[in-house]
Amino acid sequence: TGHLAIDGLGKHYGGDTFAMRDVTLEVSPGEAIAVVGASGCGKSTLLRLVAGFETPTEGRVLLDGRPVTGPGPDRGVVFQDYGLFPWLSVRENIAYGLRERGVHRREALRQATEHAELVGLGRFVDAYPHTLSGGMQQRVGIARVLALHPSVLLMDEPLGALDALTRRQMQDELVAIRRRVGTTLVLVTHSIEEAVYLADRVVVMAGGASHGVPGQVSAVVPV
Ligand code: ADP
Ligand code: ADP
Repeated sequence: TGHLAIDGLGKHYGGDTFAMRDVTLEVSPGEAIAVVGASGCGKSTLLRLVAGFETPTEGRVLLDGRPVTGPGPDRGVVFQDYGLFPWLSVRENIAYGLRERGVHRREALRQATEHAELVGLGRFVDAYPHTLSGGMQQRVGIARVLALHPSVLLMDEPLGALDALTRRQMQDELVAIRRRVGTTLVLVTHSIEEAVYLADRVVVMAGGASHGVPGQVSAVVPV
């Protein structure tokens, strides 16, 4: 699982504002693609459409053959801000989504501990987010999403809030996590270097509403 078929996808915001248009891409199970391009070219829009947070005005997204019609647990989304609950420990943050899905408390906490270990935070399960570094907080954010076993991981500038050194360390951590879980990955980043480091293919987008043309894919480069 984790096969994405993005077909003629477009998002029109009314008037002549097209955030992006004509995006056609196929992502194989387990493959990692990175989407790069200047600000405003439609990267986040593409990610939000795949996440199901917005509805396309053209085209469609198929995940494992089924059309995406809204958000779903088969797609885990990680943003730049970690979105952790400050009043919950690392373990409880990771367990939260499992609890929401009806997993019993004890089992949810057990799985949460497992996923904390997966991202190298086994020693920090009882810590509260504000006591952790940014990199560690984002690891919690990633563990929380992975605990729900999504078939696709969608990341929008996941390392964007981190200083350069932590960012570099977290790139290695993401490579390691990917090796362990093998989930299909769509990563939006403004860093070409990060894209080349983390992805199997880099999707370059260009244009965007501020240029008066829809954002579009201008190249797909295997790396
Ligand atoms: P990126 O992530 O590449 O910076 P976005 O996907 O955020 O680009 O935005 C693509 C274009 O669509 C931008 O020019 C932006 O101004 C426009 N846009 C994004 N969201 C909206 C919206 N809700 N209404 C109108 N225009 C939008
Ligand atoms: P990261 O790359 O996850 O941001 P840092 O570079 O901030 O990690 O920290 C490197 C290591 O220092 C961590 O893996 C952790 O073992 C330790 N560390 C960082 N913050 C704390 C903390 N608040 N308490 C204990 N150990 C910490």
